[in-house]
Amino acid sequence: MVDDELLRTGDTEAPAGSTTSAGTESPAGTEASEGTELPAGTENPVDTDAAATDEAQPKTPVLGDVLLAIEELWPESLAEQWDAVGPVVGRPSADVRKIMFAVDPTADVITEAIEWGADLLLTHHPLLLKPVNSVATSSFKGDAVHRLIENGCALVTVHTNGDSAVGGVSDVLADALGLQDVRPLSPADNGLPEEGIGRVGELAEARTLGEFAEQVFSILPAVAGGVKVAGDRNGIIRSVAVCGGAGDSLFDQVRMSRADVYVTADLRHHPASEAREGTVDGRPYLIDVSHFGSEWLWLTPASAALDNVLTDQGYTVEVKVSMTNTDPWDFVLTPG
Ligand SMILES: [Zn+2]
Repeated sequence: MVDDELLRTGDTEAPAGSTTSAGTESPAGTEASEGTELPAGTENPVDTDAAATDEAQPKTPVLGDVLLAIEELWPESLAEQWDAVGPVVGRPSADVRKIMFAVDPTADVITEAIEWGADLLLTHHPLLLKPVNSVATSSFKGDAVHRLIENGCALVTVHTNGDSAVGGVSDVLADALGLQDVRPLSPADNGLPEEGIGRVGELAEARTLGEFAEQVFSILPAVAGGVKVAGDRNGIIRSVAVCGGAGDSLFDQVRMSRADVYVTADLRHHPASEAREGTVDGRPYLIDVSHFGSEWLWLTPASAALDNVLTDQGYTVEVKVSMTNTDPWDFVLTPG
């Protein structure tokens, strides 16, 4: 029964599904490896002059250089007002050779980054979203700040600016689901027309909700909570709205988009229940996925994008995506 498959308990060490998911097979993933195989200035060494020889030497960026590249890809101006993005820990003058990408700055992720020798940990979620009065090691956040500093690892947050930007979290989700004619659900106030929160697009071929849910399940890392679906399993869908992370504030935009189904995470009882009560012909159907999983897909293309920008500037860095599963749930019980 599908339910049994949906209840695969995620390996706590690795988002196991990701190894076979479309996310890692996506063109973006391919770009990652191509990007790392493109050392700058490997052209014919015979006619190189002194300047070209300089260019051929691997250059190590400092954190300040990497922050400029991050701003180019995910401008802070695209972040929501309530958000806290940008550098959290680290000196702009410090060398950055190894950059790890992760969804959450948890203790396990920080350990993974330190053990790998990362000079920079870039996470989607902020460590310090709310103001704090202390970073004493008696709190896990203070301990995280200390461990990062003591091990020479900077921390940078790319959160709602990473959601909104072109190639952002929901763009990656839409791409992994094969959506076409993709546009924002909620366009950015001060960005390009293609920037904003959430995305909506069309499937190349109509399919049933059950078939589509299986596709959603297959592209995401395996987590204990699986995938939850509201709607007629045999209902036909063509248009799809997505929002990586918690998306239950976008129901009005989903209804206006006339999407047949909405894929997002953290759907709470009341917004979900009221959305189902207000449907037309049962639509939009709802697919509730792991918050972590929906955002983890972004890490590979994001790391490739940053690697490419730095490579274009003549810098050489090593990028890596964390394989620590930071979905907080470990198992579920269901009837039957
Ligand atoms: Zn999130």
